[in-house]
Amino acid sequence: MCGIIGIENNENASILASLGLVTLQHRGEESAGITISGKGKMKTFTAMGLVSEFFNEDILLNKLPGTAAIGHVRYTTSAKSSLINAQPFQMSCIHGNIAVAHNGNITNFPKLKQELLKKGAIFNHTSDTEILLHLIAMSKGSLANIVATSLCKLEGAFSLVILKDKTIVGARDEYGFRPLVLGKVDSSYIIASESAAVEVIGGTYVRDVKPGEVVVIENGQIKKSFLYKQPKKQNTCIFEQVYFSRPDSIMFGKTVEAARVKMGQFLARQMRDIKADIVMPVPDSGYFAALGFARASNIPFENGFIKNHYVGRSFIKPSQSLRDLTTKLKLRPIKELVAGKEIILIDDSIVRGTTSRELINLLKNCDVKKIHFAISCPPIVGPCYYGIDTPNKEYLIAANNSVEEIRKYLGVESLTFLSLENLVKACSYEGKKDNLFCKSCFTGKYITKFQRMGLSKKLNV
Ligand code: SF4
Repeated sequence: MCGIIGIENNENASILASLGLVTLQHRGEESAGITISGKGKMKTFTAMGLVSEFFNEDILLNKLPGTAAIGHVRYTTSAKSSLINAQPFQMSCIHGNIAVAHNGNITNFPKLKQELLKKGAIFNHTSDTEILLHLIAMSKGSLANIVATSLCKLEGAFSLVILKDKTIVGARDEYGFRPLVLGKVDSSYIIASESAAVEVIGGTYVRDVKPGEVVVIENGQIKKSFLYKQPKKQNTCIFEQVYFSRPDSIMFGKTVEAARVKMGQFLARQMRDIKADIVMPVPDSGYFAALGFARASNIPFENGFIKNHYVGRSFIKPSQSLRDLTTKLKLRPIKELVAGKEIILIDDSIVRGTTSRELINLLKNCDVKKIHFAISCPPIVGPCYYGIDTPNKEYLIAANNSVEEIRKYLGVESLTFLSLENLVKACSYEGKKDNLFCKSCFTGKYITKFQRMGLSKKLNV
């Protein structure tokens, strides 16, 4: 998963891009970068780590002057976590200097890369995004044309911002797997992964970039907006609302917070026969579902875990040993609050099961009476090939065990997953039936070609 942002027609482009990236930091903590142009030469600055660790005043004001900028925060899904893969990627080609920032996974990347290697292409990075640089460099016509021609060759998940001179381009794959929104601040347009990034920098959310759409923006005007491909049935990642996106971002006509509250309300209905003393979340992403559960069930809500906010999200650390360490550092139960109680504990998901078991053991060490564990999404039975780093099937606990087996492994009194039907109801536009979501990791059925080709491993080439 990654976060991307673009802003144009603004003297403070690099500063606003960096603030937007801080807002999108939850989408990737491993590296960050900004490319700027519009005044002198295009420049890119990338580094490993958090945005706030290295984008200081000197860099933003003195080293990155310009009026148009794109930015990227990254966590690894398809290539090594290293500076060489930190985005944006900038290149010099027949069309001049162009930079690209990408969120998603290009699923036909191995095939396209082989074709280009045979033609003599040289690759500097190991991530799938580089393929787009080659396709752009080899296409002909206006900026809109070269982007559209290149995107037609890609399959899979991609939300993109592209920078050339004073122009930014936003584009989204034909299924709309990853979110991408259009916003406005004064006389500048913004393109961002989530609406919260637009609002934090003083802008207003205008609309989503549509699946299959290319938007070309320059001098505060939308110069062109068109469909590079007829959109397919929309297939936006439902896990964005479960876990990844910020609660204050708008998706499908409501905040992610509202969707999560509904997930909790539906869970409460599914668990109406279970009585408990308190409902408590696993912070932070279980918070709103627990609130919804408490409101619907009239069971008191308590914050029984204290989170150390100076430790990153365990889910997005690239190795198991780092994940284990961060879990222990990250959460601590308040013994006085939980001892002797029957607890409904709410978390957003179970992936490997190891983190959940550790949390439950932490609670058991505080002498809780009983734990009913409730999850605000269905069991994850397949990996994600569209930009979220869920592990291969053999490591997914729900792909290899029944709910009862998982319950026993975790050592809880009961284990309840939100049904897929209720998850879809919670995430959809009010009053509309789902036809909009990717649910592949919950169903094991994938819709893109590379799955039909039988490629089931990660896309490292
Ligand atoms: S497979 Fe799951 S995580 Fe991946 S895009 Fe689909 S719903 Fe989202």
